[in-house]
Amino acid sequence: MKKIIIAGAGHGGLTASYHLAEKGYDVTVLEFCQRENMGHDWHDAMDFSAFDGSGIPRPSEDMYSFGLPTGFTNPAQTIMLRIPFQEGKGIYMDRKVLVNYLVDEAEKNGVSFIFGAEVISAITEGERVIGVRYKKDGEDTIALCDLLIDAAGMHSNARKSLPLSCKIEKEMPPMDIFHVHRVYLENTTGETIDPPYTIELFHMNRPGIDWILTEEDKVDLLIGKFGTSGKLTQKEIDDAIAAFRKRYPFIGDKVLRGGKTAEIPLTRMLPLIVCDGYAAVGDSAGMTIPLNGSGINLSMKAGKILADTVIAAGEKPLTRDVLWQYEYEYFQKHGKDLVMIDILKNFFTCVTGEQVDFFLEKEILTSKELDFDGEEGIQITPEYIMHILSVSLPIIGLVPSIVKTMKFMPFIETVAKQMPKTYDEEKVDKWIKKYKAL
Ligand SMILES: Cc1cc2nc3c(=O)[nH]c(=O)nc-3n(C[C@H](O)[C@H](O)[C@H](O)COP(=O)(O)OP(=O)(O)OC[C@H]3O[C@@H](n4cnc5c(N)ncnc54)[C@H](O)[C@@H]3O)c2cc1C
Repeated sequence: MKKIIIAGAGHGGLTASYHLAEKGYDVTVLEFCQRENMGHDWHDAMDFSAFDGSGIPRPSEDMYSFGLPTGFTNPAQTIMLRIPFQEGKGIYMDRKVLVNYLVDEAEKNGVSFIFGAEVISAITEGERVIGVRYKKDGEDTIALCDLLIDAAGMHSNARKSLPLSCKIEKEMPPMDIFHVHRVYLENTTGETIDPPYTIELFHMNRPGIDWILTEEDKVDLLIGKFGTSGKLTQKEIDDAIAAFRKRYPFIGDKVLRGGKTAEIPLTRMLPLIVCDGYAAVGDSAGMTIPLNGSGINLSMKAGKILADTVIAAGEKPLTRDVLWQYEYEYFQKHGKDLVMIDILKNFFTCVTGEQVDFFLEKEILTSKELDFDGEEGIQITPEYIMHILSVSLPIIGLVPSIVKTMKFMPFIETVAKQMPKTYDEEKVDKWIKKYKAL
């Protein structure tokens, strides 16, 4: 049976490991953290489709709570866009609980884990990945494999170490990085706000998204800034928390959890995520919703597609043309719709807080477009983007970015459709050129 190594216990890698081990593959996950330190000290919003759509059994009821009604507000706080609440659909799951659950499920199927192992680089022979170099307890080790699945997040060493000839992007562009600070503070009175989970667009006119989620015992705050405006400073974090506290005096000083700064990729899928003996999944492949950075549902679904591709290959070597099926299928099912959101995000990173007020007050941006997980699916179409661009034309400062975006709008759907179904180097190179130009 083929030997599969997974760099990093990311969600997509764990999902793939679960299915591959179930079919008898020899699967080992190399994870930087010790088991007890895995996962972040906060909860995540996701939905059952992460499990149902990835073939992982749903966790037991004590592992999650149901999502709360959500709304979006503008910098002037004159509008509240309420997202239609679907009882029993969205869930919150503690990151540590989720990661440990996925590790437990994978272990039950026979996956081996090496915790405290830092992947240093992929080992290549020409353009083919044949293994991985990692460090554990100060010792350098080499492990060979038929496939290296890269689930080590956006700054993955494995991806960065690939030879240039593999044509896989090494770095996420700095402007596609969302810098966030997450903290849970004490709720001193037990009051909550309506809706309890409110996302503030361009809070304090900072290009980015903040949120406040109030529960009787705690207030969960996220302060986020788009990479186009640089990294988040301590002063911006302090000012944002002070502004929330001024409005909601029940937010106490006592830090209950989190208090950490992190980065999330806000990008469309990388143009190429596979090469001979290598496939990236999750944040390492740019699989998030480019406006809000949610990536768990997408990573887990991608992990299942990847496992299915490997299983379908049977005895064939896992070359780029075999693994291309995974990239193609992920892009058709999820990636292509997210290109629209990425384009909208690129446009939004150039606007000001006042312009965001204008878009919400004039009902140009409504709850329909912001409900990414709604019944109707993603509602951001080329027609919608053309609409938002044309109504924005009177805003003089936006003209250059509008004209630039409008120029390639007619090509978006065509480029998505033109993605080659089977791998042919020349055709794929041509497609990538067009995809990157969008
Ligand atoms: C503050 C914050 C809030 C978020 N909230 C949500 C949310 O509510 N809903 C949602 O869907 N998404 C959310 N996300 C995004 C989500 O975390 C990711 O999109 C998702 O985790 C997919 O990433 P991943 O599993 O591929 O990688 P990661 O979660 O980054 O996991 C990578 C793993 O690889 C390990 N690793 C890294 N480098 C190495 C190495 N060299 N050697 C060995 N192991 C390594 C890491 O320790 C980690 O275990 C949030 C992100 C942040 C930062």
